[in-house]
Amino acid sequence: MNNVIIIGCGFAGLEAAFMLRELGYKDGLTVVNRSEDMVFTPSLIWIPPRRRTLEELSIKLKPVLSFKNINFICGEVASIDAKNSTVALVNGRSLDYDYLIIALGWQSKRSHIKGNEKILFPCDVPDVLKLTEAIGKMENGSITFAIEGERPGPGAEFLGWIDVYLRERGIRDRFTLNLVDEKHKLLVHLGRQACEILTANFKERRINLYLGKNLVAAKSDIAILEGGIEIPSDLICAIGKVEAPKPLQKLDFSEADGFIPVNNDLTSKAYNNIYVAGDAASFGIKKVPKVAPLAIEQAQIAAINLISSLGVGRKRFFDVSSALANVKILSDFGGIAALAQGNKTLQCNTAIGMLKVLIERRYLSMHRAGRVARHVA
Ligand SMILES: Cc1cc2nc3c(=O)[nH]c(=O)nc-3n(C[C@H](O)[C@H](O)[C@H](O)COP(=O)(O)OP(=O)(O)OC[C@H]3O[C@@H](n4cnc5c(N)ncnc54)[C@H](O)[C@@H]3O)c2cc1C
Repeated sequence: MNNVIIIGCGFAGLEAAFMLRELGYKDGLTVVNRSEDMVFTPSLIWIPPRRRTLEELSIKLKPVLSFKNINFICGEVASIDAKNSTVALVNGRSLDYDYLIIALGWQSKRSHIKGNEKILFPCDVPDVLKLTEAIGKMENGSITFAIEGERPGPGAEFLGWIDVYLRERGIRDRFTLNLVDEKHKLLVHLGRQACEILTANFKERRINLYLGKNLVAAKSDIAILEGGIEIPSDLICAIGKVEAPKPLQKLDFSEADGFIPVNNDLTSKAYNNIYVAGDAASFGIKKVPKVAPLAIEQAQIAAINLISSLGVGRKRFFDVSSALANVKILSDFGGIAALAQGNKTLQCNTAIGMLKVLIERRYLSMHRAGRVARHVA
């Protein structure tokens, strides 16, 4: 009897688990995740403005997995011993596997900013809750969001929605809002047209823009940018630079930032009984965007190939060039939204924001009912 372990149960882990059962895999299947819930992270931007609660964005894992006869362990992975095919949990438990699917995702990189303990990184769930509490209590002041790295979009989304929230509370004129954009990351992310519309929109909403600058340090009440520019800030948030979770950073077959090099069948380059799907995977110099639809696609391909290695069905390959050209990014800045593909703007208007709501509802209702997303096959 084979024993498959999936570590991490976000977009990739949940999809891989469902897909293995959908493909008829009947042997041992265990999913390990550090929390009881899968969280629909693209909608975290709506928690600070009170459009969503964390509960509304969560899927309780135990019931959906046990319904499919999948064993669920709520626990934190401490390390992977690939040579001996075991995974160690922080509570001391050790799990053996024949096949491992790594779907641990990513975490915000913090160490490159001096004084980072004074900064919130709201792409990480605990920090989005701290941000929500903080802006709920603030009656005035200055809020600075710095965007950088691979995942800049949510920074402008969070700030745009905080602007909406403060207007709804009738206290917007008591606040200064600042957006620091390292090397015009938004331009690359949204395409030129949407970037120009968004820049004009933010200026109209009196959101100060510091373009082409990095946040390098935080002191109490001051955000310090490259070149020594200081922005008085009661609250500083940073978004965008990512690294792999700790257990992956310690592996001798991961890259410097912890992401794991994979072949295009999604096996790790070092071990053919280890598959990697979602943000934890690295495709080398081809910087495949770390986004939910690609995490789902990779998870489905990993499941298909794992089954294929057991002698059932043909292998599938992840097409990096097609992913780079076709992946669409939909961002909602509160009042205005943008859809981009391959660094080009497709649409930038108010209406397209509704699509983000529909995608969230569809994903959550399907997966709460134990159904996989549309198949890659
Ligand atoms: C604010 C925000 C907005 C975003 N907006 C979009 C968007 O509009 N469109 C889009 O496509 N993508 C968006 N993304 C990116 C998208 O959320 C990720 O690409 C996606 O979550 C990657 O899926 P994953 O399964 O690889 O990782 P995740 O979904 O992060 O899942 C990883 C799982 O592993 C668990 N885990 C981590 N470490 C451990 C450990 N040591 N032990 C046990 N479990 C562990 C985590 O708890 C988590 O459940 C956004 C992300 C954020 C944060």
